[in-house]
Amino acid sequence: MEKCDNTKSIYGTYEWSVKTINFIAGCKNNCRYCYAKSMGIRYKRNTAGNWSTEVVRSNELTKRIPKFSGPVMFPSTHDITPEHLTESITMLGNILKSGNSVLIVSKPNLECITKICETFSENKAEILFRFTIGSSDSNVLKFWEPNASSFEERLECLKLSYEMGYQTSVSCEPLLDKNVDELINQLSHYVTDTIWIGKPNLLLSRTRVNGFGDSETIEKCNDLMRWMTDPKFLYNLYSKYKDNSMIRWKHSLLSDIQKLIK
Ligand code: SF4
Repeated sequence: MEKCDNTKSIYGTYEWSVKTINFIAGCKNNCRYCYAKSMGIRYKRNTAGNWSTEVVRSNELTKRIPKFSGPVMFPSTHDITPEHLTESITMLGNILKSGNSVLIVSKPNLECITKICETFSENKAEILFRFTIGSSDSNVLKFWEPNASSFEERLECLKLSYEMGYQTSVSCEPLLDKNVDELINQLSHYVTDTIWIGKPNLLLSRTRVNGFGDSETIEKCNDLMRWMTDPKFLYNLYSKYKDNSMIRWKHSLLSDIQKLIK
C-alpha cells in the first residue's frame, strides 16, 4: 500500500490520499455533521430532504481510471451500502485494475465488508480499510449518524477484515465521545495501520445547514464542542497518546494541540 506524505501542511482527504472517487450523489447515513451534504446544499445539488436518497451516477462506473501517484480514497462523499454493493465492487475493481492502491473509507456494513473481503482477496497488499468509528456507544453513533451501522457491527467489520489478513485502520474523526480510552482499547487489537483522531469542523453551522437546527441537536453540538476544545481534555488526550505509534492526529486537532503545548 502506497503512503501519503502527511508530513506537509495538508488538509482533509489529502491527509490520506491523492484522489477521491465516488459514484453516488447523496448518502443514506444522513450524518448530522456531514460536510458533503452541506456542500451539496450550498451548491444546490441536493436539499436537506433528499440527501439520504442515493442516486447512482452510472457514467462514473464506466470511466477509465488512470494510475494515480498515491492512494485513492473510495468513497468520500457517500458510503458503501448493500443497495449499491454491486456497483461498489465494480468501482473498486476499476480502481485496482489500473494499478492503484485504495483506501476504503466506510462506516462499515457487515454484508458489504464481507463481500469486498471475499472478492478482493488477491489484492490485500493494495487495500487499506479505514473504518469511521467516533464512539464505542451505539446510542451516540445513532444520534449523529442516524442510518449508519452500530458500534457492534463496525467492530465486527474491523475484526473480519483483520482476521482475513487485510490492512486495517480506524478514523475517530469526528470524535463523538470523550471516552477515548474505551474506544481505542476496543479497537486497537484489530488495527494493523493507524488510528486517526480528529474533531468535527464547523459543527454548529454544518448541522444547521443540514436541516438539524432543533434544540436537542444544538445542545449536543455545544456540549461536544465544549469538551472537544477544553484545554485540559486535549492536553490529557495528547499526553496519553503522543508516544503511541498507532495514533495520528488530524490536522485540525493538531493545530489546537500545538497551540496548547507551545
Ligand atoms: S457517511 Fe459520510 S458522506 Fe455519508 S452522510 Fe455520513 S459523513 Fe456524509
